[in-house]
Amino acid sequence: MRPTLVWFRLDLRLTDNPALSAAVRRGGPVIPVYIWAPEEEGAWPPGAASRWWLHHSLAALDARLRERGSRLILRRGPTLDTLRTLMTETGADAVYWNRRYEPALIARDKVIQATLPSKSFNSALLFEPWEFKPYRVFTPFWKACLARGVPATVQPRARPPAPARWPASVKLESLELLPRLDWAKGFDWKPGEAGAQKLLRRFNARRYTTDRDRPDLAGTSRLSPHLHFGEISPRQIWNALAKNADQSGWGYLRQLGWREFAHHLLYHFPHTTDEPLRPEFARFPWSKTHTGWREWTRGETGFPLVDAGMRELWTTGWMHNRVRMVVASFLVKDLLIPWQEGARWFWDTLVDADLANNTLGWQWTAGCGA
Ligand SMILES: Cc1cc2nc3c(=O)[nH]c(=O)nc-3n(C[C@H](O)[C@H](O)[C@H](O)COP(=O)(O)OP(=O)(O)OC[C@H]3O[C@@H](n4cnc5c(N)ncnc54)[C@H](O)[C@@H]3O)c2cc1C
Repeated sequence: MRPTLVWFRLDLRLTDNPALSAAVRRGGPVIPVYIWAPEEEGAWPPGAASRWWLHHSLAALDARLRERGSRLILRRGPTLDTLRTLMTETGADAVYWNRRYEPALIARDKVIQATLPSKSFNSALLFEPWEFKPYRVFTPFWKACLARGVPATVQPRARPPAPARWPASVKLESLELLPRLDWAKGFDWKPGEAGAQKLLRRFNARRYTTDRDRPDLAGTSRLSPHLHFGEISPRQIWNALAKNADQSGWGYLRQLGWREFAHHLLYHFPHTTDEPLRPEFARFPWSKTHTGWREWTRGETGFPLVDAGMRELWTTGWMHNRVRMVVASFLVKDLLIPWQEGARWFWDTLVDADLANNTLGWQWTAGCGA
């Protein structure tokens, strides 16, 4: 059997990774590959905080693969050419990957799918967006999901068989994902699958509905960057919590529903990354001067909660959901600065920057979205 390339993207884990498991089941050697090609992500290449996370997550994935006699091959794009070259170099006759839902990547992946022998899988969502009609309101959407039954079966950790000879890999450092000035020194995160599992084990779902509204408590799971980078799947979380969930636990699982909703919205309404879902807001009379923008970004507005949130974001790469709502409302409704500007700032500074969730969060706060 000839080798299979497994093209890793936002699925940086070995457990419950459908593309990887399918490649192992196919038989023959498996070659795990990551290709850095930010220019293919359209107007939304990963921001600075995401790049920091990605660097450490790729290192963690490589270490985990090496524990199992495998390794992660790193290359630079263009992706199609790189995959073709790798197929020639290794004799691989198929490429497997897990799907992404950002508009620019859907377009790119369609071309690759039409050109190379390949198979794609769902690793990031509970349901594929095209299985549902386009919903604009969360509650009926979530009811429709629950009525179908959430597929919570988790695939076991894969052990990919190594090829006789490994193709060359560029060094992780050569991708230059880490910042030149070390502004990330305050980041207290453990990117990678093990870090995600540790947070899941520590998380107390029984206190979620009482503690989640308190930004002064660590009452939420903080799994958002791990979910974004696919170091843990929503199915794994569902599988771990749904069996014994009380009302609070279901309140938590409902948040996975919001994540799901955001991805479905992005799929059905791809223009909403830059334009309001409700078209009547397209001509909103925003401030022309953007007065207060600099103070907002630096946490120097004079409003303590806004400033605390913006400084937390800068220092840790993360902000509590309720505080995200407050700072976003302040920017849009007090300073009258377009939500798109705030979304861009979050995109660059959040370690969990996610095109679907960020777009939903900003449009929802601005009142022009779902
Ligand atoms: C203006 C604004 C921008 C946002 N930008 C992002 C972003 O770029 N990336 C991101 O992951 N989330 C974003 N959110 C949603 C939410 O604030 C974060 O997902 C949450 O704070 C992450 O912390 P947690 O993992 O502890 O969440 P928990 O409360 O533990 O929730 C568990 C998971 O559910 C998902 N989730 C929770 N709330 C939401 C929500 N409102 N919408 C979609 N998914 C949700 C996340 O994946 C989260 O990790 C944004 C919200 C707002 C108001």
